[in-house]
Amino acid sequence: MSTKDSSALRARLDRARTAAGAAGVDALLIAPGSDLWYLLGGSGHSFERLTCLVLPAGEGPAVLVVPRLEAPGYDAIPFDELGVELATWVDGEDPYALVAGRLGRPARLAVADVMPALHVLGLRAAVPSAEQTLAGPVLRELRMRKDDLEIEALRRAGAAIDRVHARMAEWLRAGRTEAAIAADITAAIVEEGHVRADFVIVGSGPNGASPHHTVSERVVESGDVVVIDIGGPVAEGYNSDSTRTYSIGTPRDTDVAQTYAVLQEAQRAAVDSVRPGVRAEDVDAVARKVIAEAGFGPNFIHRTGHGIGLDVHEDPYIVSGNRIAVEPGMAFSVEPGIYLPGRWGARIEDIVVVTPDGVESLNNQPHELVMLPG
Ligand code: ZN
Ligand code: ZN
Ligand code: ZN
Repeated sequence: MSTKDSSALRARLDRARTAAGAAGVDALLIAPGSDLWYLLGGSGHSFERLTCLVLPAGEGPAVLVVPRLEAPGYDAIPFDELGVELATWVDGEDPYALVAGRLGRPARLAVADVMPALHVLGLRAAVPSAEQTLAGPVLRELRMRKDDLEIEALRRAGAAIDRVHARMAEWLRAGRTEAAIAADITAAIVEEGHVRADFVIVGSGPNGASPHHTVSERVVESGDVVVIDIGGPVAEGYNSDSTRTYSIGTPRDTDVAQTYAVLQEAQRAAVDSVRPGVRAEDVDAVARKVIAEAGFGPNFIHRTGHGIGLDVHEDPYIVSGNRIAVEPGMAFSVEPGIYLPGRWGARIEDIVVVTPDGVESLNNQPHELVMLPG
């Protein structure tokens, strides 16, 4: 971890303390997960043994409480530079009492959204004076506004997943099952620079009409339209997520070219609409209008996009009713789809970042229906 990284992390910890104070919270209690990764630059996985960053609002001392056997998982974190103490505990000790001992008599504590209920209730019993609330709403205001290091990591993730899409002809062809194709894509996601594949959707033929279909034993046939939606994290923890739609030879359904052209227009118009000050719901409306005017409104059955960063799905959501005005540094997907139940479906998904004067797309593979040999 470079000095540049630790000063960025220090700034995040300071902003989180300030945000906690502004939210009327005495301390943030952050369990392993993306919030912990955001604040410390790394995170282990623990479940029944409590790991918890205690980050007071204002100036109080910050401490990471961690089971001694899991402490090596945090070796890369520059605790001294971050001004965070490491406090380990061993089996048989009471970690909730350890946390409570650091807190004084707080009135309100914000626990990480993903903290296991086991620990939430353990902390409640150990600090009965405190009302518990969620830390997610405090931290999402920070996490939505990405710094240059975060954007750079997202850019690297985007380029890596683009390289996987560029190689699709190596694996996607008639006569193979979705599951076999997905296994090859999973390996390629790692080969091209991710630490792992997080999700691989291969929706062939009628399966493409189910947006969150994963994979099945269906054998891909000539004439199929196939939705491929893939992503995973790079070493810094930031995720890729990109969808392209392929056809195996000439599509068997005669309405594919015309319908796909509508989708392509909707996706392009939505991306082009992104600039600082535009409301998230307006980006959604731009895509939806193009699709609805062509008569496919009922076939676009999900929001237009989601924020992305250390989580694949995070704020800001690009959805009707979300009136947040987007700002430079916000990153989200633009992924309209058209789904024709029982027949075929299509989706085009790019991750975009809001820039001071517009938008940068982090995915740059062609948006046309990709025709592979049938
Ligand atoms: Zn999704
Ligand atoms: Zn996706
Ligand atoms: Zn997505």
